[in-house]
Amino acid sequence: MTLPAYITTSWDDGHPLDHRVAALLSKYGLEGTFYVPATTSERQTMSAMQLRALGKGFEIGAHTLHHVDLTSVTTETASQEIADSKAWIEDSTGVRCECFCPPIGRYRKEHVRMVQRAGYIGLRTVELLALGFPRPLAGLLQIPTTVQAFPHRRSTLARNAIKRMAFGNIWRYLRHGRATEWPALAESLLSQVVARGGVFHLWGHSWELEEFDQWQRLDSVLRLMGQFTRQAPAVSNGQLCRLPIPPVAASGQAVAAAEAAGGRR
Ligand SMILES: [Zn+2]
Repeated sequence: MTLPAYITTSWDDGHPLDHRVAALLSKYGLEGTFYVPATTSERQTMSAMQLRALGKGFEIGAHTLHHVDLTSVTTETASQEIADSKAWIEDSTGVRCECFCPPIGRYRKEHVRMVQRAGYIGLRTVELLALGFPRPLAGLLQIPTTVQAFPHRRSTLARNAIKRMAFGNIWRYLRHGRATEWPALAESLLSQVVARGGVFHLWGHSWELEEFDQWQRLDSVLRLMGQFTRQAPAVSNGQLCRLPIPPVAASGQAVAAAEAAGGRR
């Protein structure tokens, strides 16, 4: 049985440069979810007017109100940050906010329950090298990612896969992780999703693209992704969670098995 294929993207932190990412996504017929906090102590966030404008074309997800590391605050604060950021996004955009992304990728089991109780349907993680569909977890769907638009060291990719003991991700690290440049890794994994099914999920931060001079690379990767939207439709993170997830792909192991079988051919 062939798995369906999809392409999604997500962008964290609500920097005003998110509009530059949004313009590129529109140019290449792609979708994306922007995870926007109300404020961050580290850098600028977009104005209310900019957020409304972005919300007209793209899904806006919550990223807490103050970009807090959930694991470093009290249970009460974490719960408020999770619930209040949903209400804030909905008030600001007039659109239901369905997806949440914990800042810095840090959260515990108790936070997953809070996210579910607050009424979200999806929780985006910072798991890299995944090609699977969202995984059910405590009444939520956990959304992994494939590639970050950032020049990681190879050792970071390895650590990310090993920490989760994710067989498929470790396999992909060994098979594709030699690509030292993220655009080459993206191309390699995207072609695999198009050929064998699964989800290709590119994520990043617009402020980081600026700081590390990655705009040209992003343009070429998004152009490439745009060429495959007929075989792998572009969806937002929320739309991805609403798709009927193929039962065979629910664990993500099906993707790894298909790859392993493909590798032996
Ligand atoms: Zn963040």
